[in-house]
Amino acid sequence: MFGLMMDTPLLISSIARHADRRFGDQEIVSFTIDNPRHRYTYRDAFARARKLANALAQAGLKEGDRVATLAWNDYRHFELYYGVSGSGLVCHTINPRLFADQLVFIINDAADKFLFLDPVFVPVVEAILPRLDSAPSFVILTDDEHMPETSFDAVSYEAFIADASEEFEWPEIDEKSASALCYTSGTTGNPKGVLYSHRSTVLHSLGVSLPDVFDLCATEVVMPIVPMFHVNAWGIPYATALTGSKLVFPGPKMGDPAVLQALIEEEGVTTSAGVPTVWQGLLAYLDATGKRIDSVKSFIGGGSAVPYSLMQAYEERYGVNLVHAWGMSETSPLGTMFHTSPALEKAPAEVQVAARASQGAPPFGVELRIVDEDGTELPHDDDAVGALQIRGPWIASGYFGGGGEGSFHDGWFDTGDVAAISPLGYMRIADRSKDLIKSGGEWISSIELENIAVGHPGVKQAAVIAMPDEKWQERPLLVIVREDAGDATSAPVTATELLGYFDGKVASWWIPDAVAFVDAIPLTATGKISKLDLRKQLGAGDLTVER
Ligand code: ADP
Repeated sequence: MFGLMMDTPLLISSIARHADRRFGDQEIVSFTIDNPRHRYTYRDAFARARKLANALAQAGLKEGDRVATLAWNDYRHFELYYGVSGSGLVCHTINPRLFADQLVFIINDAADKFLFLDPVFVPVVEAILPRLDSAPSFVILTDDEHMPETSFDAVSYEAFIADASEEFEWPEIDEKSASALCYTSGTTGNPKGVLYSHRSTVLHSLGVSLPDVFDLCATEVVMPIVPMFHVNAWGIPYATALTGSKLVFPGPKMGDPAVLQALIEEEGVTTSAGVPTVWQGLLAYLDATGKRIDSVKSFIGGGSAVPYSLMQAYEERYGVNLVHAWGMSETSPLGTMFHTSPALEKAPAEVQVAARASQGAPPFGVELRIVDEDGTELPHDDDAVGALQIRGPWIASGYFGGGGEGSFHDGWFDTGDVAAISPLGYMRIADRSKDLIKSGGEWISSIELENIAVGHPGVKQAAVIAMPDEKWQERPLLVIVREDAGDATSAPVTATELLGYFDGKVASWWIPDAVAFVDAIPLTATGKISKLDLRKQLGAGDLTVER
């Protein structure tokens, strides 16, 4: 027997309608290339999103067609999120930092009909245009006055929507319809498209808004420093509209701590999300300038492991709770986030520290398990380490256009991460399976070693990769960017000193064999340490290894 309740579809347009009615006066502030403080309201944003929906319909686009974006976080990108998805089209966000080959692959694979781009990305498009199967229509995210020179036909965004009506009836499509498309960075093989649905997006937005997750409500001020071109800025542009939080977009300044601090202070930001490198950069800036971020209650850190020493630094020096989260493109991205519990509060201090340092626990909607090589489930005893699998209504069930079949089995998605789960349910990522170091048949966690290394005051950044070894097959190599010496009296940290620093912190056979000091560690298009490139540098003899 079915219940007798309304079958109202969960649509992105339902978030827009709610925010428009309920939080119309709430502000959206953006730093853009031509205006360091663009300011308007949710009401203004959704009126323009409806104009955009009309303009796209007039251009002849049909339900399910892909509309691509190549843009930083700002109000026009926000309008695209709603105008495109809300009208039944698929908002395909593209990472502009990808290599040309990947961009060509992605645009051809998605068969984008339109491409909306920031003026700064005109050269990126010009470089790949000859290699596209069929050119999309181009709209540049600016007005006629600021239109850049282009070698291709393009109109300005403001001109594109200017004559379209503000009246638009968001269509009642199936909630399982595709809403957005985002390709994984493709560190192995070609990028794979993750195709989100309206239902998955609305449920994910509800999930991340919960008190033990991002804790959003209408009095919060949220600044996503995670790009809107990567996993929907962790769902923040939807969740903030759903809860009525004020939104602050840093535009092209996501890597500029001075702008981030100014936005935080002037706009009263209470919470923000970003990868650890963003938090490291901001901390160094605050420490050096003595500036404050007193409005902030919490920062969310994820995308790669957040060192516990960084959480402590924020807590002690700025009263900010830096909370650890884990996820990936295929998981929308929220998989786990740290939150406390009565049981944890009663646990011994070291258990509490380990839980805070861990990647956290799944919220309602997410189930996790760890399995061994035969697929047998492993116990949650904080000791057993296995392949991390996940399932739930906002977890991918396949890729756009197929592929990656090996990752989907028995209704679970294999994340490619290896992890342990504690008796209290906290999950600890040991490594990506391809980054684990296998020494004499036993594995060593590169993440754990990196977390220890960055706790040394002489270390700015650390990465651990496998170094081929005749006896043990692989041994850990520590790649280090030194902290700039603040005063001439403190000598730069040496290899011996660093290796000695691991004594007593890990089993002796986990201690790296050698150190390579470098000026910079290569990053991927999403700003994470590129171990693939480091391994290539090692293979090519480009790293000077000190023992
Ligand atoms: P890619 O980095 O390949 O583009 P994603 O952005 O989807 O793909 O990243 C997902 C991966 O990032 C996860 O599988 C995991 O390995 C890593 N990751 C994300 N958050 C964390 C975290 N808090 N700690 C450790 N690793 C993390």
